[in-house]
Amino acid sequence: MRKPFVAGNWKMNTDSYTSVELAERIASGAMEAAASGSVTVVVCPPFVYLQSVTKALSASSIGVGAQDVYYEPKGAFTGEISPSMLKDIGCTYCLCGHSERRHVIGETDELINKKVTASIVGGLLPILCVGELLSEREASQTNVVVTRHLKNGLAGLSAEKVSAVTIAYEPVWAIGTGLTATPQQAQEVHNFIRKLLGQMYNDQLAEEIRILYGGSAKPNNAAELMGQPDIDGLLVGGASLKADDFLAIIQTAM
Ligand code: PEP
Repeated sequence: MRKPFVAGNWKMNTDSYTSVELAERIASGAMEAAASGSVTVVVCPPFVYLQSVTKALSASSIGVGAQDVYYEPKGAFTGEISPSMLKDIGCTYCLCGHSERRHVIGETDELINKKVTASIVGGLLPILCVGELLSEREASQTNVVVTRHLKNGLAGLSAEKVSAVTIAYEPVWAIGTGLTATPQQAQEVHNFIRKLLGQMYNDQLAEEIRILYGGSAKPNNAAELMGQPDIDGLLVGGASLKADDFLAIIQTAM
């Protein structure tokens, strides 16, 4: 039985005051979910607010994740943040390969693979994001793209290491656009991903790994999305910046 998982990606939003305020509102509103332990809840603030958000959430069971990570442990890598630095300030998760990093910043599968690998080795739990562009969906390339992201992103990792990973299927055309994949479209790809992981590793891993959907998830579509057999939770962008909306989504997952 896979535990539902709701993660909020705050992207490049909030400031030193509103990040803590948002975290505190989520923590107090999610007390029931936290107490029952029935949902994994994680927020991913910008790097500079990670420490204050971690502190604000310290009495709750809400986890904190980074939106990115670098693969080297330390040294002359100006501007980068290592897994051990993130661990040091209480981070447990990190996003790897978010579509904005792939398509705006230009990250490659090879770089993302190094980040996933270094995260696991460094004791972080990576959330590997995969998903196709609109043009790729229209050209019936969704499964090809998702296969490439998964195979390259997880290259060289054993089944044991991959069991630390959560996958997020995020069709790029649905991120921040208000367009959501229909529950059926999302379920189809989630089921494809689960079967592929079964082939790449084993049935147990495929059965146990959590696969989140991301792309304009909102309180009004969360229940139907999470009601699909292979959708284990949601990676939420815009709606995670509104405490009431994020809490309503967490409530749906309970
Ligand atoms: C995201 O940032 O991962 C995301 C899914 O954003 P949104 O919910 O705003 O589409």
